[in-house]
Amino acid sequence: MKKVVAKFGGSNLKKKEDIQKLVKVIKAYDRPMVIVVSAFFGITNHLITSLTEVKKDETHINKLTEFLREIKEESIFENFEDEGWRTKTMTLVEQRINELSRYLTGIHYIGDVPEFVEDVVLSYGERLSSLVLTSILQAKGINAEEALPESMPLTTDGEFGNASVDYELSSEPVKERLKDDKIYIVPGFYGVSSQGKVTLLGRGGSDYSAAALARCLDAESLDVWKDVDGFMSADPKLVTSPRRIKTLSYSEAAELSYFGAGILHPRTVEPLKEVSIPIHIANIDAFNGHIEPRTIICGSEQVTDSIIKSVTYSNDFCMLKLRGAGVGLKKGVLAKVTAALDQAGINIKSVITSQIVINLMLSTKDIKCAYKLVEELKLSAITEILATEQISTIAVVGEGMLDKPGISGRLFMALAQRNINVQMIVSGASAVASYFIVASDDREKAVSAIHDEFF
Ligand code: ASP
Ligand code: MG
Repeated sequence: MKKVVAKFGGSNLKKKEDIQKLVKVIKAYDRPMVIVVSAFFGITNHLITSLTEVKKDETHINKLTEFLREIKEESIFENFEDEGWRTKTMTLVEQRINELSRYLTGIHYIGDVPEFVEDVVLSYGERLSSLVLTSILQAKGINAEEALPESMPLTTDGEFGNASVDYELSSEPVKERLKDDKIYIVPGFYGVSSQGKVTLLGRGGSDYSAAALARCLDAESLDVWKDVDGFMSADPKLVTSPRRIKTLSYSEAAELSYFGAGILHPRTVEPLKEVSIPIHIANIDAFNGHIEPRTIICGSEQVTDSIIKSVTYSNDFCMLKLRGAGVGLKKGVLAKVTAALDQAGINIKSVITSQIVINLMLSTKDIKCAYKLVEELKLSAITEILATEQISTIAVVGEGMLDKPGISGRLFMALAQRNINVQMIVSGASAVASYFIVASDDREKAVSAIHDEFF
């Protein structure tokens, strides 16, 4: 029997009621499976901030470990009735926090955070989640075992902070390690390099961990449990009657995630698309005793009558405009700019060029640094650099978009009727997505105008 891999986020693990729901879901599956968990909400950010503080001030080691201990103690107190299980679990938590504490002491004494230590430290949010959940399930009589990625090993390409899983190296060992008929609980967010060093899989990466494990195991499906009703035709906060999307193709789901739909990490799709393993998005709040996905992401490319399946937005796109009469004609300009950004670890989300402007779309956090780097290059072809921050990208996604005439016309008509100025349009780069840029202030109006037009 093929296994199912299920992913639960930090919000599914916090309150007593959440854990009770989670246990019911696991019981309803009634089959051996692999469960991937992320850290409690906010813990990873807390660990990141603490790293800087611990470097300067030793007392922050205790502050951090005390903070983690309290959170776990509260969760253990709430979720175990049996005193024996409480003590046993708290002892294991203590041990794990002590491990973390040793890394923190090292950081303080060397006054630096080497990449390989940073990745280990940040993995502790997930390690604490998996440990406590395993104990909770065991206390309820479920045959559960914690399986750490290093015990498989789940091998990555070794890039610290943002690694990718190597399926050739990982598949067999992962299958072997997780072969028994039980419930394995795996902390998400990290794997190990071929030298055995912990490497994180990027922020928000436990969805990707779960996808990678599903691929290694040739799983029946990857079930991602959320507290929302799957993918919707638009953000329910912005439109009055959004529709649930029952099926999405892999490409549609990837584009929607990339352009801001917060349901799934954009990297979750890539490992599963190639091997046609479906992704199910399930809603833990709507759980009624049956495992029923709210959105199924699979290889079927359905073209609907309205073509557009969803409209989404992101505020994490800024634009760096490099102007100069000949930027489109001179060779090497783009190469020098992208090399400089790459060296500084800055990801370019998109490039749109014309003869006189190169537009680089970047994440908000990178825009200032990118501006400085390009300025320092002192390229004669670039006469002006402009950083635009107050913008939002709006994307419309749907299979068949390039084949059906009139979609763009309807889209821009809807925006024009509400007086929304479109600053830039990109269409045709992807077969299933078009996106455009508007001023941040127009974001909500733009999403609802498009939603009204197509739904
Ligand atoms: N805890 C990690 C993060 O906050 C991974 C995740 O939540 O998926 O980035
Ligand atoms: Mg997450």
